[in-house]
Amino acid sequence: MSLDASLRARAAKVIPGGMYGHLNAALHGDRYPQFFVRAEGARQWDADGREYVDLMCSWGPMIVGHRNPRVEAAAAAQQAEGDCLNGPGPVMVELAELLVDLIPSADWAMFSKNGTDATTQALMVARAATGRTKALVAHGAYHGADPWCTPGLSGVTPNQRADTIEFTYNDLASAEAAAAQADGDVAAILVTPFKHDSFEDQEHADAEFARGVRALADRIGAALVIDDVRAGWRLDLRGSWEPLGVRPDLTAWSKAMANGFPIAALTGTDALRGAAQTLYSTGSFWFSATAMAAAKATIEILRETDGVALMHRAGTRLREGLAAQAAAHGFVVRQTGPVQVPWLSFEGDDTLEKGIAWAGACLEEGVYLHPWHNWFLSAAHTDEEIDRALQGTDAAFAKLRAAYGAD
Ligand code: PMP
Repeated sequence: MSLDASLRARAAKVIPGGMYGHLNAALHGDRYPQFFVRAEGARQWDADGREYVDLMCSWGPMIVGHRNPRVEAAAAAQQAEGDCLNGPGPVMVELAELLVDLIPSADWAMFSKNGTDATTQALMVARAATGRTKALVAHGAYHGADPWCTPGLSGVTPNQRADTIEFTYNDLASAEAAAAQADGDVAAILVTPFKHDSFEDQEHADAEFARGVRALADRIGAALVIDDVRAGWRLDLRGSWEPLGVRPDLTAWSKAMANGFPIAALTGTDALRGAAQTLYSTGSFWFSATAMAAAKATIEILRETDGVALMHRAGTRLREGLAAQAAAHGFVVRQTGPVQVPWLSFEGDDTLEKGIAWAGACLEEGVYLHPWHNWFLSAAHTDEEIDRALQGTDAAFAKLRAAYGAD
């Protein structure tokens, strides 16, 4: 029996369902390994020692290479001094200063651990500031796994969902209608920088829509919150809607912020500083210094090396390579979203049968990507790593063609 299989058998006895949440390999297709043991640069190894070019970057957190020496050194130096102390270290102030310096919409920062902490805190700040209740969110958007936002409703009461009203992404009229439905009681409009819902092609934010929700929030006196947990640090270090000229009141950050060390941040404007100050919002591990040191190093590396440009280059090479391969093998595919946060789907593949088969073949060829969730690129994806990935994807297209026969 493989180590992965034996670990799964043991996990089934001591962990509910063997695994829970989005990392449950049972959700990903039957060829996905559950357990991983090692990572380096743009590569990961599963429990059975199989090596992959990692196009998921641990579902987002890795951004400057697994075990990046500079990030690891910064974290180790802090860890050697102390991590979880009676109060935060100086590094908390340094990190907040770095964010305020880097992000035009940030006059302050609060830290926590997970993206859900930051999105939840954003709503709390907006509610504290406005004295209102409702949040407008896009249908199908993922903002975390707390009762107010988890896509699964098990263990959630109707009351916990009563304060969100849905609109359709990129449809300003639907956002206006949702605001009207709330009848003046909107605390926040919460929006991801592009549409990256699972199982669906991704969609860039329409500039008119982005400007429109900004104007709507201003008109009704609600906070505009960008949930940059998934896209943050990959599209623009200043915030993902900065290139559109749209600045949020609050931004939730996490995932790639510390290259895999656990940290999240909420940043906001001066107008909301007072409200943020009134929150009782804390956690046992929120002030641990190691992840803050890792975040500082990660963001400094991204800034100094123009990490976004590196990811853009890698993503463009991957997208062009995949397009040529798909065409050569006679498949019509759609590649959507920013190249740094890519996804590929097969035309007419509503059940994702082809996508799952192709992703499984990619795994066999040493490329870890995903059939129903967007992928992530990093600054460690050099041309050589992308070319290695493309060798695997080409072989996977060939296998898929063999399985489906000529069209
Ligand atoms: N918002 C978005 C857009 C996300 O992608 C995620 C995580 N996938 C979250 C919030 C929640 O983050 P976390 O899982 O760290 O709580």
